[in-house]
Amino acid sequence: MTFDSNILLIERLLYDEFGDLNWWPANTSDEVVIGAILTQNTSWGNVEKAISNLREENLLDLKSISESSRENILRLIRPSGFYNQKADRLLVISTKIISEFGSLDKLSKRGMEFCIKYLSDLKGVGKETLDSILLYAMDMPRFVVDKYTIRYFLRIGLLNSERESRKFEKIPEILDYNVPRLKNLHAMIVEISKKNCKSKPFCESCIMRNICKYYKERILP
Ligand code: SF4
Repeated sequence: MTFDSNILLIERLLYDEFGDLNWWPANTSDEVVIGAILTQNTSWGNVEKAISNLREENLLDLKSISESSRENILRLIRPSGFYNQKADRLLVISTKIISEFGSLDKLSKRGMEFCIKYLSDLKGVGKETLDSILLYAMDMPRFVVDKYTIRYFLRIGLLNSERESRKFEKIPEILDYNVPRLKNLHAMIVEISKKNCKSKPFCESCIMRNICKYYKERILP
């Protein structure tokens, strides 16, 4: 089977198990951006506490963040870890987008290529954060690659090493640039990575056993 047909098979198997997961867990596009910064190098559980603090003080939008003080943001996002760095990143991203475009929506109207260049030039926006914002906050056809995705595809056997991760760039095309499918595929990979394909994998109850290289080579014999 080709890489393309394997991606479609994986999508179907995951969908049969998980269905529509309605990711990202946020109420607004601005909240996605804020969550994408806060989730860097930490678990989502810690991010939720920081988001809840920001929500209580009506600071879950870029304009409010840009108008808030660094000390106030620091205090509220402390549960997310690396709070000095993240407060600076939130302030820089919010202030630039609001002062130069007025809103995230107006920035997204400039098109995907412009947004890729604009956002990736901002300090603290690496590839995973960039693609999370483009896909989940701006509804653009990108595929998010995180540590779960790499581990999962290495085990399944669709990647031989992390160096091959450029293969992921083809996934939007394979999924017909369909944004809801791209959102859900990433969400389902995170889900199976938390349920079965953890650092110590639980293969016996995994729906991927029949196609998984790791299972065939390391568990079955
Ligand atoms: S069978 Fe095991 S290694 Fe393969 S995807 Fe499932 S949990 Fe991961």
